[in-house]
Amino acid sequence: MSNVKLVDTPNGHAGEGYFATSLDKVIGLARANSIWPLPFATSCCGIEFMATMASNYDLGRFGAERLSFSPRQADLLMVMGTIAKKMGPIVRQVYLQMAEPRWVIAVGACASSGGIFDTYSVLQGIDKVVPVDVYVPGCPPRPEQIIDGILKIQELVKNEPLRRRNSEEYKELMASYGIM
Ligand code: SF4
Repeated sequence: MSNVKLVDTPNGHAGEGYFATSLDKVIGLARANSIWPLPFATSCCGIEFMATMASNYDLGRFGAERLSFSPRQADLLMVMGTIAKKMGPIVRQVYLQMAEPRWVIAVGACASSGGIFDTYSVLQGIDKVVPVDVYVPGCPPRPEQIIDGILKIQELVKNEPLRRRNSEEYKELMASYGIM
């Protein structure tokens, strides 16, 4: 049991028999440690993700081991691999089917920028069709890098104000992708 690491307590006020913090922080803490990823894997980077899930790296240590192959039960879209232009609308449709709040990681060079495939048929980054929160570099990224991307997402989730999704900035971001 001595190896079990508890998550950090959010900022707040502690006293004898009580701890007080804001609702934002409690919800952020719960969300950040119970992420349900949707793995959208199209090529080699997906294999690295399999290693990330397996016992050596074990994404379950971060509370994100429950993969969802249904967008409606996922809150983190992980795009891993080369995305052909004809796949772009599918990525977007999956994103649209996810309920808010939702986050997106582009895993690897292909999902982030098209990677080595600067060709007529390959989407030059999934941020052409959906907003991306975290980019993981590498071709392929090692499992440690994918985990680092998840940790970055956890930081974003933990610190996101509850009202962000109703803000004008967020609506503008969505509108720039044609999402109302
Ligand atoms: S970034 Fe590299 S490893 Fe990942 S899908 Fe593209 S070519 Fe494959």
